[in-house]
Amino acid sequence: MTELSTSLIHHPYEAPTGFSAPQHAVHKASTVFFPTVAAMRSREWKDKSAYTYGLHGTPTTYALEERLCTLEGGAQCVLVPSGLAAVALVALAVLKTGDEVLIPDNAYGPNKTLAEGELRAWGISHRYYNAMDPKDLEAKLSPATRMVWVEAAGSVTLEFPDLPSLVRICKQHGALVALDNTWGAGIAFKPFDLLPGGQESLGVDISAQALTKYPSGGGDVLMGSVITRDPALHLKIKLCHMRLGLSVGANDAEMVLRSLPSIALRYRAHDEATRALATWCQSQAAFVQVLHPALKDSPGHGNWQTLCDRPDGGAACLFSVVFAPHFSQDQVDAFCDALRLFKLGYSWAGPISLVVPYDLHTMRSVWPPEIAKGTLVRFSVGLEAVADLQADIEQALKAMV
Ligand SMILES: *Cc1c(COP(=O)(O)O)cnc(C)c1O
Repeated sequence: MTELSTSLIHHPYEAPTGFSAPQHAVHKASTVFFPTVAAMRSREWKDKSAYTYGLHGTPTTYALEERLCTLEGGAQCVLVPSGLAAVALVALAVLKTGDEVLIPDNAYGPNKTLAEGELRAWGISHRYYNAMDPKDLEAKLSPATRMVWVEAAGSVTLEFPDLPSLVRICKQHGALVALDNTWGAGIAFKPFDLLPGGQESLGVDISAQALTKYPSGGGDVLMGSVITRDPALHLKIKLCHMRLGLSVGANDAEMVLRSLPSIALRYRAHDEATRALATWCQSQAAFVQVLHPALKDSPGHGNWQTLCDRPDGGAACLFSVVFAPHFSQDQVDAFCDALRLFKLGYSWAGPISLVVPYDLHTMRSVWPPEIAKGTLVRFSVGLEAVADLQADIEQALKAMV
């Protein structure tokens, strides 16, 4: 007779196969079994042909990877523990000592910090370019430029670049193009098909996304993805991913799988509310500028129109306001503190509206000429009723003076 503990571990019962239900199963594993030594020696982990170890994928992560490829129009995907890890993995997989990487000056801040820290220490140089000026990018490309980051819209200031032109310039110079696609999320535009229906096929080489934002949609998951269309480039990233030991938790992967079916609906609901609020903010005397690419006066509005202004396109849930210069930092801080529905907090694309004051002086190498001088506050619009959010901003404006 086997002992109880052994019987509980090696239990003979097997549930019938064929279970079928709406939600994908959560497969949790570090260890994965092999039926024979021969299987152990021959199984391949670099593609999705088999299972070898939890780190290299389970049915749950494979399913999520495939759905994310569909979302962004890519062919291969790796999952990482955060959006920032996706940005870092791209750099580590592609760049080597002596290479240069170009980053837009309005990029997601930690992307620049990585370049100034680890990349510089490893002999990888970087330069910042003005994403709103393709000529500036062209002038900064050199034979050492291995990769160029693009981001649309820009972080915090939300300028929308001429993405097809930037990508075309990089291709002409033989540099890889990596996009931080967190804002577009695979909905606003198709990163691998920037000219849908056109004669020319044009797209980025790599799309990194913070799944933390729209794909999760709950403000409760940290995850990132790196998507490609070129098998050789994917393999390079996948090998680096394996060497670094990156993986994601099964429960988190399942949370994103559960949220994905509603991503397009959520994107549009956030979009509609954000445009309504941003438009209303334009009528408020306290704000000298409202930054949102769908607003006519916002930097790069024409570029946004060309790429995203379609029934199945759109804009994300972010807009920023620049306070009139006579407001002190203390007054703007008091405005943020007085908000009740907009919570102070980082991240976005969850149900709760958020607000963050930013000091642009510390974030840019030069003050962008298209941004008015003054303290900048970024709103992330959640799924609350627009009228309530507007009333919240109204009462906070009264409270600050
Ligand atoms: C949030 C964000 C990231 C990083 O995502 P985390 O999951 O928070 O690490 C990267 N890029 C952009 C544009 C983001 O907004």
